[in-house]
Amino acid sequence: MVGSVLGASHWRSHRGETMVASYAHNLSRRLPLLSLLVILGVGLVIMRFIGTVRWPVLLPGVAMMAFAAERGWHWLPSQVAQRPLARRRKDIVTLPMSVGLSALFAVSWALSLYCVGNDAQRALVRVLLSVVSVAGVLGLAHAPAAALRLALTCTVPAAIVYLAVDGAGVWPVVVVLTMANLTVLMMTFGFHADFVRLELSRQQLARRERLAARLAQTNFEQASRDPLTGGLNRRAILARLAQEVTRHDAPQPWLALLDLDGFKHINDTYGHAAGDDVLRAVSRRIDAIGGVVAHGRLGGDEFAILFDGALDGPGVAAAAHALSQAVRAPVVHNGVTLRLHASTGIHRMRGANAGAANVGGHAVGACLERADAALYKAKKRGEGAIVLFGPEDEVALQHRSAMTRQFNGCRLDDRLRLLYQPFYDVDSGAVLGFEAFARWSPDGQTWLAPGEFMHLATATGRTGELTRAVIARTLAECDAWRRGLTVAINLSPRDVTREGAVESLDRLVRDAGADPARFLLEMNEAALLADPRRARTQLEAFRAAGFRLALDDFGAGWSSLSQLRDLPLDMVKIDRGLAAALSSDPGARAIVGTIVSFAWQLGIECMIEGVEDEAQLATARALGIRLMQGYHLGRPERADVALAAMDRAVA
Ligand code: C2E
Ligand code: CA
Ligand code: CA
Repeated sequence: MVGSVLGASHWRSHRGETMVASYAHNLSRRLPLLSLLVILGVGLVIMRFIGTVRWPVLLPGVAMMAFAAERGWHWLPSQVAQRPLARRRKDIVTLPMSVGLSALFAVSWALSLYCVGNDAQRALVRVLLSVVSVAGVLGLAHAPAAALRLALTCTVPAAIVYLAVDGAGVWPVVVVLTMANLTVLMMTFGFHADFVRLELSRQQLARRERLAARLAQTNFEQASRDPLTGGLNRRAILARLAQEVTRHDAPQPWLALLDLDGFKHINDTYGHAAGDDVLRAVSRRIDAIGGVVAHGRLGGDEFAILFDGALDGPGVAAAAHALSQAVRAPVVHNGVTLRLHASTGIHRMRGANAGAANVGGHAVGACLERADAALYKAKKRGEGAIVLFGPEDEVALQHRSAMTRQFNGCRLDDRLRLLYQPFYDVDSGAVLGFEAFARWSPDGQTWLAPGEFMHLATATGRTGELTRAVIARTLAECDAWRRGLTVAINLSPRDVTREGAVESLDRLVRDAGADPARFLLEMNEAALLADPRRARTQLEAFRAAGFRLALDDFGAGWSSLSQLRDLPLDMVKIDRGLAAALSSDPGARAIVGTIVSFAWQLGIECMIEGVEDEAQLATARALGIRLMQGYHLGRPERADVALAAMDRAVA
């Protein structure tokens, strides 16, 4: 081991470098003392031989003292520490040679004096040589090769000279000198082996620690990175937000939520690889915007971005604008140029530095809610709008959350009221049935239309309950179904995909002794878009249970005619927007004409809703529509009023 540690190539490895440092450090704590001992010893010899020999004979001693002083200085810990590693390595590698040569020089000089000295002078030389060689070997414990040379140069020539000058009588001295040197040498080698073992295991430990730290870092990185974009993932960016809301030492950053417009379209049209390219490009572009402190993907095509808290309102708006522009730059995927834009909602995460009104700050959820409200507004504005959450938004948000709490906490049946609007066969003038419209009251006094509360039902997860409550109420208060008429019920999008919806509505209707065929379930295209395959299966199940199905608001949105062909439908309801345009817009007439003839070919009934005057009625009739609904024919009314109106008409 000693040999391998001392091999020249060893010193050049990384392990060798740490070893060099630690060897040099150890030597620096011993060699200056050893030099001092040499200076002292040589000084004593010179003093003792003054007068015995001519002064030039003593000059090499003086030179040696100077050399030892220089070496002592050279090996001072402070000096060693300053030297570059390569120099230290060179010093260690050349140490055996330089120790060997200087020992040879010193021993030769001392022994030449020994030959001419008297008894006392010889005794001094013997003692000093022994002491210096033993101390030297100990001092060079961490340079065993140098120690060995020192021991050999001190012992062998000295023993020969002692025996030659003093005769055989001096043998006990020679034996003691040799034994002492041998013992110290062996101890030294033992020390050194221990030292090397210790140093190597220390290095191994340090390496393991470094490895463990690197591993921990990699694990942390992996757990917090979004594998697709390389930015932070949802967990990590939320953790960062949590960190920010508890900080009070700096103005809190702005939280921006960025949502891509048209991303789904790119995914659907060009495939997921194109979508992935877009997400990666957006993440890179966010990264390049000034003022961004952190960003990550919350999921899908939504990104959370933290802008520097030092920015003021206009500053953050400018940064968001720059980002919005950057996102607009085309992304090229497989030679296809993809374009899209993003909507951005921004909210200042409040903290102790904010104004008095803001003291207390918001938890992460509240910050996200506000940025999300601003994003929602931006989305509604369209065209890559940027919206900063303002005081009036705060008021609206508080109002909305109060309403949400009320909706969440209420017994639906207590706060629900239904209005029924008749629909007619205009040829016979007969009422065919009624459509039920829900009204909800937050306080038992004001009644809200679905446009104002349906989102609360969605947010609180009570849409299924609402639909069941509407049907139960209809079964109880509007006996049109007993008279062979139809009751139309509006389904919310979730009813169209929710597991178990068919069974629960079917049971509800049958338990009341009603025939599901008396119920026309209406849903709009948005309900079908979210998960078309699941929606289709569910519609077939509704149909199998005996319900009839209508596609509502047809002509208002995307309205693909192929949907009419592919879905199990009984009726299509033409949107009231088209009804309103009928008398004035030839385009609307053409569209309605197409829908009517297509529905006729497929054997699907066709109803037009929102008919408000005679002109619209006449045009619709001329286009071949018999089934109609609208204020012109009858307004939505309470059950008793609606039924009484029908009875009057029949009578
Ligand atoms: P919808 O199914 O298209 O219902 C027609 C809406 O137009 C109703 O508004 C109705 O009162 C109104 N309306 C009827 N005739 C006319 C007319 O001649 N002119 C005009 N301008 N409007 C007319 P309402 O009650 O506010 O309902 C709005 C929407 O809310 C409904 O649209 C339906 O999608 C949804 N909805 C209503 N009740 C329920 C319900 O119980 N459950 C679910 N999930 N959605 C419902
Ligand atoms: Ca409807
Ligand atoms: Ca409608």
